[in-house]
Amino acid sequence: MSDFGLIINGERVATAESFDVINPATEELVAKCPKANAAHVDLAVAAARQAFTTWSQVSDEERKAAIHRIGDILEEHGAELAGMVTEEQGKPLVGFAGLGAQFEVGGAVAWCRATAELELPVKIVQDDETHRIELHRKPLGVVCSITPWNWPLLIAIWHVIPAIRSGNTVVIKPSPYTPLSTLRFVELANQVLPAGVLNIVTGADDLGPLLTAHKDIDKIVFTGSTATGKKVMQSASGNLKRLTLELGGNDAGIVLPDVDVDAVAPVIFATAFINSGQTCAALKRLYVHEDIYEAMCAALKGIADNASVGNGMDEGIDFGPVQNRPQLNIVLALAQDAENKGGRFLTGGVAAKGPGYFYPLTLVADVSEGCRLVDEEPFGPILPIIKYSDVDEVIRRANDNPSGLGGSIWSSDIARAAQLANRLECGSVWINNHAAVQPNVPFGGVKQSGFGVEFAAEGLAEYTSIQSVFIPK
Ligand code: NAD
Repeated sequence: MSDFGLIINGERVATAESFDVINPATEELVAKCPKANAAHVDLAVAAARQAFTTWSQVSDEERKAAIHRIGDILEEHGAELAGMVTEEQGKPLVGFAGLGAQFEVGGAVAWCRATAELELPVKIVQDDETHRIELHRKPLGVVCSITPWNWPLLIAIWHVIPAIRSGNTVVIKPSPYTPLSTLRFVELANQVLPAGVLNIVTGADDLGPLLTAHKDIDKIVFTGSTATGKKVMQSASGNLKRLTLELGGNDAGIVLPDVDVDAVAPVIFATAFINSGQTCAALKRLYVHEDIYEAMCAALKGIADNASVGNGMDEGIDFGPVQNRPQLNIVLALAQDAENKGGRFLTGGVAAKGPGYFYPLTLVADVSEGCRLVDEEPFGPILPIIKYSDVDEVIRRANDNPSGLGGSIWSSDIARAAQLANRLECGSVWINNHAAVQPNVPFGGVKQSGFGVEFAAEGLAEYTSIQSVFIPK
């Protein structure tokens, strides 16, 4: 028996089997989670298909009101949800720069409200004496959402809310590491939504392919690693499912020699170590001009040495643990490779004994391309600091990576920074900032960071197809 249930067709469904959800700070059991099987997947998809016949016809105003109501309910349950996120994911309730679990819940509420207000109006492309031709946006049908473990609640909201706003119905499968806040969100949203509009199945990774290959699903929105994204794309081809793939990143930040080091170092630090580095568009490769290299290393070390790492439920903790053992092993392997290649560890580098999957905030200087820590996404609290001397060359080095999610230029000359930013091959680029997303700005990757965008009208449009309507005069 599990403490939670699947939600299918508006009903809580118990499963015969369950799996453990572990608190990454203590390695203790948080809860038993229901383990769905193929029959549950079929039931959830069938419920979503059935609900689509009515939900797709509901008025825009009604859907908008329902989503605002979901935002209200999430806000009312904010403390409960934030506690769940901290327990299952590890990020502190408040955290460094206020970017912890309470921020995640606040973001979920804000995205509900902003997405509720998005519109995809009918577009008139021709209106003359012979024809009026209109473009209508129609919902696609049943959307499958598959989410990762780093921002479990917020990413679930990013998938589900635009899908239902535009008239689709959803089956969501969260990461087996962090399913609880998503189960609770779906349960709460079902207080508002008609039965079958939003369903959830939970289980191990092997549940994913049952959904991605399912013949009655019309679209997949997937956020996760590039390797899994490629499998999702292959598996989706059977019935030509639409895809939005938000995949891994290895974002470069390039610091020009004209910055005020002490002013930008805290912002660089916060955007690199947000959620202990477990953020898709965190700053993951820091390129610093040789003139200010040692000053930047010293400033970042000063901040790291003063930040606390611990159980996110404890007051005053800045950063939590790595979310799971396999991810910690990746961080350890990349750190070892950096050490073998002559990396200079300014701070950190030695994993705590446990319990908990803790790794200290780690800054590694004197590394470059050819080192795994630079070439691959560490997705943990470890940042390589790379020296450069020529701006044109560093732009080439930043682009010479398969990822293309985000990038940044740090300079006191904003106009020059904007020109350089334009040359970075990535979906989002920031000047004197990084990793900042907002609901009115499209967000997505290029190259192997995926395709399609989320947020804003452009993101909403991805849950629709165009129907061109030719009306003779
Ligand atoms: P992951 O790819 O291991 O898992 C993501 C989800 O896919 C999980 O729900 C998992 O159960 C499921 N899954 C696993 N195998 C599957 C399969 N064969 N078919 C279908 N689903 C399957 O990723 P993760 O480790 O949970 O998350 C970390 C990764 O996510 C990082 O690479 C990070 O950069 C990326 N990410 C990207 C964004 C973005 O917006 N671009 C946002 C957050 C995280």
